Amino acid sequence: MKIKDKEFSIYIDKNTIEQRVAELGKKISREYEGKNPLFIAVLNGSFMFAGDLMKNISIPVEISFIKLSSYTKTHSSGKVKELVGLDENIFGRNLIIIEDIVDTGLTIHHLLEEFRELGPKSIEVATLLHKPEATVKQLQLKYVGFEIPEKFVVGYGLDYDGYGRNLNDLYSLAN
Ligand code: 5GP
Repeated sequence: MKIKDKEFSIYIDKNTIEQRVAELGKKISREYEGKNPLFIAVLNGSFMFAGDLMKNISIPVEISFIKLSSYTKTHSSGKVKELVGLDENIFGRNLIIIEDIVDTGLTIHHLLEEFRELGPKSIEVATLLHKPEATVKQLQLKYVGFEIPEKFVVGYGLDYDGYGRNLNDLYSLAN
């Protein structure tokens, strides 16, 4: 499969993804029974995971979407992207942040810091993918779809230079 100038091959097929996302949805539904959680999905990459995850949630929940600005601002932990589009009051809420992938962990670490300042009752992360070998931050990731090695992946919401988000399977760079 060619995307722009690069060749990719299937890495995790859609049936495997579908099954794993269903498991995560059931687990979250069990663990958040009676807690009225608010999901916050980080666009763009998490849109497909967030949509499929929601279809597997069987308890009352809310979902909202945020973006990270394309520009960076200087922060104590280095250069970080600024959170935009948060229009929910998250004080006292049980938050679940939905991410596509945690690589170094800097993005999610910074997001967690920003959210904690707003006084949620609890906060956990649901990420489709995690690259533990690349992660430099101490993080507690409660719901992880797949742990993967340090390879570049596209598809199922994730892009290569803007393309590939529509693919149903996950692909990695062919060697
Ligand atoms: P972190 O701050 O954890 O290093 O990076 C997280 C962000 O980097 C993700 O939300 C995603 O946008 C991007 N990223 C990291 N690894 C990959 C990858 O393998 N493929 C794609 N498409 N994006 C990635």
